[in-house]
Parts: sequence; structure tokens; C-alpha cells
Amino acid sequence: MVDYRACPKCRGDMHTRRDTFGDFKECIQCGLMQDLELQKNAESLAVGADAGRKKGEAA
Ligand SMILES: [Zn+2]
Repeated sequence: MVDYRACPKCRGDMHTRRDTFGDFKECIQCGLMQDLELQKNAESLAVGADAGRKKGEAA
């Protein structure tokens, strides 16, 4: 599974991987690894990208 432009660091595409620590996402472009349990933190970092996907409910 690939999340396009989900990387909070470089806006690269991230794909979900799994190892002994559990599920995590890895950025294809910069190699940033993101534990899925920390995704809430990542969402606050990537709030700009997320706002576009939610069709601006506040507007
Ligand atoms: Zn990246």
C-alpha cells in the first residue's frame, strides 16, 4: 500500500512495510521511517497536505 505524498519531511510517497517491530511506513524518496502508532503526530506535521484531502469542511 502506498500513500502518495504522505511524507512529512519531503512530501514523498510512503509505502507500508512490516518488520519485527510491527507495521511502519517508509518514504520511498528520503527513507524516512514512520511507526504507524506515531501516525497521529505525523498527521499534525502534515496537516497542510491533509487539509487538501478533506475537502475543506470548515469552509
Ligand atoms: Zn520523505
